[in-house]
Amino acid sequence: MQTLFENAVQSLQLGIEDYEANDKRRALSCVRNFYAGVLLLAKEVLVRAAPNAKPDEVLSDRYAPKPDGNGGVVYQPASRRTIDFETIGRRFNDFGLPIDHVALRELSKIRNDIEHNCTNATRSSIREAVAKAFPVVANLFRLADEEPHVVLGQAWQTMLDERSLYERELADCRATFDQIDWYSQSLAVAQFRCVSCDSELVAQVDPANTDIQSADCVCRSCGKQMRAEKAVVYALEGKFAAEDHSSIKDGGEPVLNSCPECGVDAYIFDGDENRCAWCGYELGDGCARCSGPLTPNDASFDDPSLCSYCSHVMSKDD
Ligand SMILES: [Zn+2]
Ligand SMILES: [Zn+2]
Ligand SMILES: [Zn+2]
Repeated sequence: MQTLFENAVQSLQLGIEDYEANDKRRALSCVRNFYAGVLLLAKEVLVRAAPNAKPDEVLSDRYAPKPDGNGGVVYQPASRRTIDFETIGRRFNDFGLPIDHVALRELSKIRNDIEHNCTNATRSSIREAVAKAFPVVANLFRLADEEPHVVLGQAWQTMLDERSLYERELADCRATFDQIDWYSQSLAVAQFRCVSCDSELVAQVDPANTDIQSADCVCRSCGKQMRAEKAVVYALEGKFAAEDHSSIKDGGEPVLNSCPECGVDAYIFDGDENRCAWCGYELGDGCARCSGPLTPNDASFDDPSLCSYCSHVMSKDD
């Protein structure tokens, strides 16, 4: 019987073979095989970290307490299912093993996207799926104390090549934004993404353009064209979504707000920045009437130099 590790290596190799076949019909098979290999490799790392335990004791997705007959309990696997992409990150934490959780979440999303949308998968989107997994796979081989070029052979070289090709394409895309006069440093370093396929291979249509409001974009993975405003808002959402989720949960102000001047959801309000990334508008230090602090949420929409309370009072005076 094949070991978990042999299965992992074989799945990765099959995935890369599917990739090299350069046949649209094998796109789904490529991603399935390859990502199955990543998951198996992650499981192998966990099993090797607890060599005296049985694999199903290490990999079950659920445990239940059972009386041990001496007044205590033992925890036993309570399900035949094993951990998956969603849950493996937490198991690595429990084992004190380093793994990139953001990368894992992204891999899980890429895999699901291609699974549901395989007819639209392009060579480029498959390459991105392989390239994105590369640092995770390299980390897992390190943790397993194995040499990937030895066990994977040619498939490892292909992965390296595709990763560097992808990074070159990504750098080319980023360079098309070099001439933009940014209002916002956060936007300058944010990752633009395709609103349709979520690829990061988004380029500005006219690399000579300097004005962010004219920065129409194109996805070099699926060909989708995006108006500048949509591309900017999507990039900012991607950058601040997680942060805003936790800050709002804690009763704080969101970082990303609708701009009181232009109305676009591009007003950045945090310790570092207080400015609209789309129109450059900046709220004053305080309300022009009461000097109270101005935030994008409580600045008046009719006159953003006033807080909404003062704006309300002044409008009654009219
Ligand atoms: Zn796209
Ligand atoms: Zn604005
Ligand atoms: Zn006021």
